[in-house]
Amino acid sequence: MTNHTDNELEDRKSVGDIRSAKLLRRKLQWLIGIVVACTGVLATEIIAASYSDFVIARRNLVEVMAFCRVLDTATYLSAERGPSNGVMGIGVATGSVQARLAEFRSRSDAALSEIIAGATDGSRSEPAAALSPILAEVQRRLVIARAEIDRIAALPPERRDLKEIQLAIEGMFAVIDAMRPAFDWNIQRLTNTDPDLAGIAIAAHMLANLREDGGRLASQLMAPVAVGQPLEARNIADSERTRGRLQEIWSVVGRPGALPGLKPKNIADIAAIEHEFFGEGFAIIDSVVSVGRHTGHYPMTAEQFTDRYVPKMKPLETLRRDFMDATVERLASSKTQASIKLTIASTATFALFIVLLILMRRARSLVFEPLLLARHSIIELANDRPIARLSGKGGEGEMGRLFDAIDVLRVRLDERTLLMKHLERQAETDELTGLLNRRALELIGGAEDAAGNDKNACLILMDIDHFKQINDTHGHLVGDIVLKETARIIRYSVRSSDLVARFGGEEFAVITPGDDLEAARALAERIRSNLARAPITLADGRELNVTASFGVAGADANPGWKGLIESADTELYRAKSAGRNRVCG
Ligand code: GH3
Ligand code: MG
Ligand code: MG
Repeated sequence: MTNHTDNELEDRKSVGDIRSAKLLRRKLQWLIGIVVACTGVLATEIIAASYSDFVIARRNLVEVMAFCRVLDTATYLSAERGPSNGVMGIGVATGSVQARLAEFRSRSDAALSEIIAGATDGSRSEPAAALSPILAEVQRRLVIARAEIDRIAALPPERRDLKEIQLAIEGMFAVIDAMRPAFDWNIQRLTNTDPDLAGIAIAAHMLANLREDGGRLASQLMAPVAVGQPLEARNIADSERTRGRLQEIWSVVGRPGALPGLKPKNIADIAAIEHEFFGEGFAIIDSVVSVGRHTGHYPMTAEQFTDRYVPKMKPLETLRRDFMDATVERLASSKTQASIKLTIASTATFALFIVLLILMRRARSLVFEPLLLARHSIIELANDRPIARLSGKGGEGEMGRLFDAIDVLRVRLDERTLLMKHLERQAETDELTGLLNRRALELIGGAEDAAGNDKNACLILMDIDHFKQINDTHGHLVGDIVLKETARIIRYSVRSSDLVARFGGEEFAVITPGDDLEAARALAERIRSNLARAPITLADGRELNVTASFGVAGADANPGWKGLIESADTELYRAKSAGRNRVCG
C-alpha cells in the first residue's frame, strides 16, 4: 500500500516539475516578447522619423528644382525679347539676328515644354495640374506675340510702325505676365511644403523679377529707338517706374545676408550687379533717354542698344542661377544626409534586433535552461531518482560551480544510499551465522501475507536438541561454533530459492517457496540427516554429534504467516516429544 502512494506522489511531483518548467519558459518568452516589442516600437519611431526627414528632403529638392525650371523658362522668354526687338529694328543686319532669335525661341520652347511635361509628372508630391492652364495661357500669348513680331519683321523698314512695334514688345511682356501666376503657385507650393523654403522661394522670385524688369527697362525704350523717333511720355514714365522697382527690389535682395545659403564666392555676383548693371547698364539707359527726350537721333541702333545692354544684365542671371544652384546643392546634400541617417537607423535597428535575439538565446541556453536543469536535478535527487553527471556541462562560470555542487550532492547522496543499504542488510542479517534474522523473516512473512500469492510455500522450523547441554558442557563459544556449523549445513542442504533464517537462539527456519508439504518434509529430512551424519569438529580435534528436531507446515493448510508459524511450531513440539532428531508435519 505505502509503495503505491509513494509512486503517485512522485508522479505528481514530476508533473508539477514539468509544469513549473513550462511556466518559467513561458514567462521567459513573454519577457523576450515584451523586450522585442519595446525595441520594435522605439526602432519604428526612429526609422519613421528618419524616413519622414528623407521624404521631406527629397520632396523639397524636387519642388525647388521644379521652381528653378519655371524661373529658367521665364528667363529664357525674357531673353527672347533681345533678338525679337532686334528683328523689328531698323538698319539691322537681319541674317545674324534672325538666327539668334530662332536659337532663343527654340531654347525657350524646350524649357516651356519641359515644365508643361513636369506639371503632370507623378514624381512630385501631387501632380501640379493647376499649372497646366497657366502654362497653356503662356503658350497662347507667346504664339500671338511671336506672330506679331514675325509680321513686323517681314515688313520693309519704312512700313514698320512705332505703335505696332510697341504693341509687339508689350505682347512679349504679356507672356511673362501670364507666367506670374505660375511663380505665385510655385511659391505657395514651396511655402506649404516646408515653411523654411518660403524665404528661398521669395528671394528667387525677386531675383527673377530683377532680371525681368532689367530687360523691360530697355524694351520700354526699344520701340522709339527701333524706328528712330523721340521717346514718348509713356516710354519715359514706364522706364522710370521700372527703374524705381529695380532699385526697390535691389534694396531688399542686394543687402548682405538677404540671400540665405549663398556661398561666399557668389558674393562677387552682388558686386558685379552693382557695377555692371546698376552702373554701366543704367548709364546706357540714361544716354538713350537723354537723347530720346528731344530727338530721334539715337547714338545707337536698336540692335546695338540690345548688344550693349544685354551683357550688363548677365550678372543678374548669374546671381539668380548661383543662388538657386546653392539652394539645390544644399537640399541635395540634406537629402543625402537624410538617406544616410535612414540607412544608419535601419542598419542599427537590424543589428540591434540580431544582438537582442542572440542575447536572448544565450540567456536561454546559458542561464535559464541550466537553471531549469539544476532545479530538475535537485528535485530528482530529493526523490531518490538517478540523475546524469552534471559537472562540465555548466561551463566555467557560476553555472559550472552550481553544477559541480549538484554533482557533489549527487555523490554524497549515492554514498548515503549505499550506507543505508548496508545498514538495512545488517539489520536483516544475523551476525553470528550470516543467515537472515528473525526480523527479516517476519518482514518476508508480512509481505507474503500482503501479497497473498504463494499458497505452495512451506515453513520448516528446526531446533537443535539439548543445546543447553552443549553450552553447559563445552562453553558458550563452542555453542556458537555449533550454531555456525549448523547454519552452514542447512545452507548446504537447501536450494538457492529457499530462504534460511535464524529464528531465535538455537532455532532455524526455512521457507520453501513453491513446494508442497511432502517436498518440504523431504528437505527437512535431508537437513536432519546431513546434520546427524556429520559430527562437528572442534578446534582441539574433539567431535560433537549434533541433532535437531523439525516441524514442517504448509501454507495451503495454514493461511496467514502467524498460522503457518504456529502450525510448524506445534509440529516441532511434536518432534521433540516423540524423542527428538526427527521430522514431524
Ligand atoms: P531441547 O532439546 O528441549 O531443545 O533442549 P535445549 O537444551 O536445546 O533447550 P533449551 O531451551 O532448554 O536451551 C536452549 C539454550 O540455548 C539456552 C541458551 O542459553 C542457549 N542459547 C541461546 N542462544 C545462544 C547463543 O547464541 N549461543 C550459545 N552458545 N547459546 C545460546
Ligand atoms: Mg529451543
Ligand atoms: Mg533446543
